[in-house]
Amino acid sequence: MLIDTTLRQKLRDMVSGKVLFDEPMSRHTSIGVGGNADAVIWPERSEELSRIVNFLRQFQVPFIPIGNGTNLIVKDGGYKGAVISMLRMSGISLAERGSEQVLLHAGAGATLSEIVLLSEKRSLSGMEFCAGIPGSVGGAVRMNAGAYGNEIKDVVETVELMIVSGEIQESGKDDLKFTYRNLDIPEGTVIVGASFSLRKGFEEQIHTRINEILGKRKNKHPLEYRNAGSIFKNPNGGIPAGRLIDESGLKGVQIGEAKISEKHGNFIVNLGNAKASDIIALIDMIKTKVRRERGIALETEVMIVGEDG
Ligand SMILES: Cc1cc2nc3c(=O)[nH]c(=O)nc-3n(C[C@H](O)[C@H](O)[C@H](O)COP(=O)(O)OP(=O)(O)OC[C@H]3O[C@@H](n4cnc5c(N)ncnc54)[C@H](O)[C@@H]3O)c2cc1C
Repeated sequence: MLIDTTLRQKLRDMVSGKVLFDEPMSRHTSIGVGGNADAVIWPERSEELSRIVNFLRQFQVPFIPIGNGTNLIVKDGGYKGAVISMLRMSGISLAERGSEQVLLHAGAGATLSEIVLLSEKRSLSGMEFCAGIPGSVGGAVRMNAGAYGNEIKDVVETVELMIVSGEIQESGKDDLKFTYRNLDIPEGTVIVGASFSLRKGFEEQIHTRINEILGKRKNKHPLEYRNAGSIFKNPNGGIPAGRLIDESGLKGVQIGEAKISEKHGNFIVNLGNAKASDIIALIDMIKTKVRRERGIALETEVMIVGEDG
């Protein structure tokens, strides 16, 4: 137990939102695996987040920020430290910017689905590509989430980051290092919020585009099972990871209750009671086979954290 009884009491006193101890991370990840985190904390305001982060640093307790846990695999031995869920810091506001544009600001814990819905209602164009991506704003910025030809970096204007000192700094998009499925920020930096530049558009067109995307996703992705989205990044300039896995003949291979989806090779699904170790064994199997047969080193897109069981 990294967070002892005294630290637990102090944390309880300092958090106005929720804090749970020895909490199974399978409850906080879309793929539904993962052992206990010593603590899961839901701050509600940035001053509170800052106090928590400073406290954890003072007592050398490792921590990770999370959003919706849709790109995350926590190992079976759990996370020794504190998981900071940003889901309660989720306010959204809109501000006119000239006659054509609107700036949408969202707390890190707002979900992309809320933002897509709101932009559709207000006839704002720009976020349609996020339809069906089940993450939070913080997770999407951190991962530079993307689909159907767009990425978060194309629409983001500013990002608020809580840096090591607990201070919040706002960075403009030109100062941020976005690459494919990554925003390069120092470890321990927490994304607190972001603003996105949207164009005034036509509700009907926006609605049609969103439905088109949702339809494609339903056909391609195994949404009937718990999963963590794409397991691997697409190799640079080459064949998509899903196709490489398909061609490797590994679709449908199962270890325990984890299975490489028959519908989409780049998805691993939890049939019910999968363990993180089953999923990681499938990941290793895919990496080995694709490297041996195709000479390509696949890199995971999902973030894997925690201790072996
Ligand atoms: C069915 C399905 C479909 C998906 N489709 C897509 C897709 O089309 N395109 C795509 O890009 N992704 C896709 N994903 C993956 C995932 O939804 C995105 O990467 C999403 O942006 C992750 O957001 P999250 O809030 O769930 O992040 P989490 O899974 O909670 O976290 C992901 C990473 O970001 C870090 N992080 C989270 N919040 C913060 C924060 N506030 N500050 C700092 N770091 C933070 C975490 O520490 C972790 O390293 C899909 C996932 C699923 C399950």
